[in-house]
Amino acid sequence: MNTAKRMMTLPEIQANNSPEDIYLRGRELVIGRFTLACSFSVEDVVLIDLLKAHLHDITIFAIDTGRLNEETYEVAEDLTQRYGLKIDWYFPRSEAVERLEREKGLFSFRESVENRKECCHIRKVEPLQRALRGYVGWITGLRRAQSVTRVDQHPLEIDQTNNGILKINPLTFWSDDQVWTHAEQRRLPINKLHKLGYPSIGCAPCTRAVQPGEDQRAGRWWWESTEHRECGLHRR
Ligand code: SF4
Repeated sequence: MNTAKRMMTLPEIQANNSPEDIYLRGRELVIGRFTLACSFSVEDVVLIDLLKAHLHDITIFAIDTGRLNEETYEVAEDLTQRYGLKIDWYFPRSEAVERLEREKGLFSFRESVENRKECCHIRKVEPLQRALRGYVGWITGLRRAQSVTRVDQHPLEIDQTNNGILKINPLTFWSDDQVWTHAEQRRLPINKLHKLGYPSIGCAPCTRAVQPGEDQRAGRWWWESTEHRECGLHRR
């Protein structure tokens, strides 16, 4: 059984705990290696900046689905240089992508929820499972304010979909204002698409800009109903 599962009683975390406090509370719970998931969103860039004093103690990984925007690679490069980071990149299994595209074409994800989940599984979920192998916990930039699917997000969770390892979400309670104020004050490298109406950025063909007043993740798989709009990386 996983270490996290054996010993874990999750403490109550109040909304006034800082992201760094939340990170440290999580680290106290289980001994072992932690990794931070980076999609190069404003949240992930802010999170890396907030945890910069701890970067020697965690690895950072990213998943290149093969369908990302150029703007995302530009942030990745800027961020790498600013902090001297080494990013552990993960790619989908080439045989799985080849089979998918030969059998179903390049846009099968638009045809049904099942096809979309199949593509997300091949390009995101399976690489994530490999990325988390050997770790007792992972760290994400998830926030409650991002979506109706995340309103009950907890800062510390047992990730039952990934072997019961600990999941630390230090930005759980942060508002949009807090994230953007920090990013601007620190002049952090920000994905240009955020300024073009993309609060949430995923693969290029599955993300559009949102209208004022729309949910922040309304531009992700916009052709599907709201409750389906998670890719499987953050199933709970
Ligand atoms: Fe495929 Fe779209 Fe999911 Fe990316 S977001 S993995 S292109 S379905």
